[in-house]
Amino acid sequence: MNGEISKSSAQPLSVENAKELLNSVDAFLFDCDGVIWKGEKLIDGVPQTLDLLRSHGKKLVFVTNNSTKSRKQYAKKFHSLGIPVNEDEIFSSSFAAAMYLKVNDFPREKKVYVIGEEGILEELEQAGFTALGGPADGKKNIELKSNCLFEHDKSVGAVIVGLDQYINFYKLQYGTLCIRENPGCLFIATNRDAVGHLTDLQEWPGAGCMVAAICGTTQKEPITVGKPSTFLMDFLLQKYNITTSRMCMVGDRLDTDILFGQNAGCRTLLVFSGVTNESTFQDFSKEVQPEYYTNSIADILKYI
Ligand SMILES: [Mg+2]
Repeated sequence: MNGEISKSSAQPLSVENAKELLNSVDAFLFDCDGVIWKGEKLIDGVPQTLDLLRSHGKKLVFVTNNSTKSRKQYAKKFHSLGIPVNEDEIFSSSFAAAMYLKVNDFPREKKVYVIGEEGILEELEQAGFTALGGPADGKKNIELKSNCLFEHDKSVGAVIVGLDQYINFYKLQYGTLCIRENPGCLFIATNRDAVGHLTDLQEWPGAGCMVAAICGTTQKEPITVGKPSTFLMDFLLQKYNITTSRMCMVGDRLDTDILFGQNAGCRTLLVFSGVTNESTFQDFSKEVQPEYYTNSIADILKYI
């Protein structure tokens, strides 16, 4: 920290406020990409920090907008990186999309078209819904020629759009036709992140660009179930009997993580280990400010 951040009300994390935060919070909610890891690489000091927080009796919860994995797949990833995390401590936007359909009594006889990856399909299957698309449509091509009519399933009642590294013209046409032509078809976005640290060395396009493509073709706005929407918070509260004012949301994005924390009434900590750094933090609107900021969650180790 060089102390140049002055225009905001945010405070750098320090020995004093870190202790106060620890004493007044019962659960830490962590974003994953850019906070816990970058791609397949753990951020330095993360396992030790999580161990320390658990040793202080804190609940650890992982709230990720990255929909490419299901909760089960995330638990496996944590284990492979040497961090013991249970599936039910993970709240991913893939899970949120399936739960949105469930709590809204989405008819079981209807299908869901997915522009996204395996995580969404797994969560839909686990929740008892029938899904189409996803990776299976990743290599499909379209030949634009006369008399070609693109057929789509009229029983699709929802299109879910999330991060999809195999997005293509076929999927865009399929999703568009469902939303435009199937009466009442829902348009659900897992999240609208602009970019994310999908590998350790750089940022990559986020789900926001896949969602924007479908907004462009349908001229409709989606229902967003991931952060900054607090839809997932209800599930979190069902599991943990902790008031949101005794939770701290830790994330690397102001417009999703920190806004989610604020929307839910949580304490907030911004870390500079992901997409936000000190200079982009300075540029960002003052409307969304974290309570505290620091370089990475490993700083908690230093201060406690
Ligand atoms: Mg992140």
